[in-house]
Amino acid sequence: MLSLWQAIRRVGRVAEPAPAGPAGPAPAAAGELAGSVQVRHVDAGSCNGCEVEIGAAFGPVYDAERYGARLVASPRHADALLVTGVVTRNMAEPLRRTYEAVAEPKAVVAVGDCARNCGVFAGAYGVVGAVADVVPVDAEVVGCPPRPETIVAALRLLTGR
Ligand code: SF4
Repeated sequence: MLSLWQAIRRVGRVAEPAPAGPAGPAPAAAGELAGSVQVRHVDAGSCNGCEVEIGAAFGPVYDAERYGARLVASPRHADALLVTGVVTRNMAEPLRRTYEAVAEPKAVVAVGDCARNCGVFAGAYGVVGAVADVVPVDAEVVGCPPRPETIVAALRLLTGR
């Protein structure tokens, strides 16, 4: 155990150096979140490509947690929702309920082109619409799939770090 602790101390931080903070207007709730945001992820109908990139954003290389963002398991514990995918018919009501379960102040980030404008699934029979058609959206992350840096930048706009 001691040797493991010594190895951790010797190696130190392995994440990429922090880039400059993102430019752009911060979501309205950002000022009230005081540098820390607890995030609940909701897959509303994604192909899972966006989830792979979210996994990378919270992994050791991009390390979103160093900017104050943390994934949590319940909307009751969350300040923000990270929503991926088009909103499918089966997920519209669960997404609405998840949004209502998050306490104020809260924010919603639509991650990926499907969440923003239905992307490649626009017009499909099982699709209700984009995320903004179901719940209010405060920030969008462009890309199919979006790059982890872009996801981290959106989270930094929320935490202000
Ligand atoms: S934006 Fe692209 S990667 Fe993300 S859910 Fe849609 S098709 Fe998949």
